[in-house]
Amino acid sequence: MKVPYSYLQDQFANPEAIFEDIRGLITSGKFTLGPAVTEFETRFAELCGTRHAIGVGSGTDALFLSLKALGIGPGDEVITAANTFIATAGAIATTGATPVFVDCTDDFNIDPNLIEAAITDRTKAILPVHYTGNPAHMSLILSIARKWDLPVVEDACQSIGATINDRPVGSFGISGGFSLHPLKNLNVWGDGGVIVTNSDEMDRQARLLRNHGLKNRNEVTCFGYNSRLDSLQAIVGNRMIDDVNWINQRRIIHANRYTDAFSDLTDLIKTPPKRPADRHTYHLYILQATDRDDLCTYLKRQGVDTKIHYPIPLHLQEASKDLGYKLGDFPVAERQANAVLSLPVHQHLNHEQIDYTIECVRRFYK
Ligand SMILES: *Cc1c(COP(=O)(O)O)cnc(C)c1O
Repeated sequence: MKVPYSYLQDQFANPEAIFEDIRGLITSGKFTLGPAVTEFETRFAELCGTRHAIGVGSGTDALFLSLKALGIGPGDEVITAANTFIATAGAIATTGATPVFVDCTDDFNIDPNLIEAAITDRTKAILPVHYTGNPAHMSLILSIARKWDLPVVEDACQSIGATINDRPVGSFGISGGFSLHPLKNLNVWGDGGVIVTNSDEMDRQARLLRNHGLKNRNEVTCFGYNSRLDSLQAIVGNRMIDDVNWINQRRIIHANRYTDAFSDLTDLIKTPPKRPADRHTYHLYILQATDRDDLCTYLKRQGVDTKIHYPIPLHLQEASKDLGYKLGDFPVAERQANAVLSLPVHQHLNHEQIDYTIECVRRFYK
């Protein structure tokens, strides 16, 4: 049996409806912004329970433009997790600010108990990541942010549809950034991203910054960027947004099947934890496994594709060399980098494939 990690060919096996919508775009000639983008923004804001959603060029830009809208730049510091995807730190660094890393906990999210020690008089924002589809510990993070009067920008790029007590992630901070990258749970046919916010001021600033700072055709309020959500991608997004709840639900079912099946192997593998009030949407299903590399090789030979997210934490990347970190600074993130293994959990797998994967993992440890 084959258990593939990729699924895009299955997902887009029948693209005719989308092609039909794209034909309509071509005859309308509205290739930038326009009705498809507005419709997508309206539906995305509804999905996240926010007043506003602003379509931008990528998830990275959603974070970058949020930070720019807050006036963050050179000399400032922004606190984030040491174990996230590089784009989180890249979005901070490209504003000119310095990313300041904090270790994570066993749920792969920033450890709220370590945040205050990282705050300095240069700190201008906290940027927690809802990593893997699992909500970060927002109540603790928000109370620290309130105490120090710092804005919170949520990196929700992996977490469309994840909730805390039924409230969608992205809606807790001053803004939330989402990615529509082909490998995310809500995806389009290239790059795209969304900023969500309840703040009218953030909405106004973000809309200006994504479109050259233009207030209208001829007047520019501030110098900005060209980072609009492509109208063509918004058309794809307007079709895909209908599926997002089904996609998340399928992933949750697969993940629960894994977690139940491995519950007696806790001394060998650790399944991803989640808090009871949270909806974890399993963009990734990450095990922490004994003999990870051997397990990975074994599974590959059995036809089960896995991935490692990620083998090198951010503070040990070459890109971080001037930030002054060293091995040993973030023991949890470092330990996880050597133990993490992502099992296929996507919506196009069937129960037989999940059960086969379970059987292979169990056989490896026998
Ligand atoms: C994917 C991702 C991003 C960036 O999104 P892009 O759309 O690829 O720019 C940022 N942060 C995290 C945690 C991500 O997984």
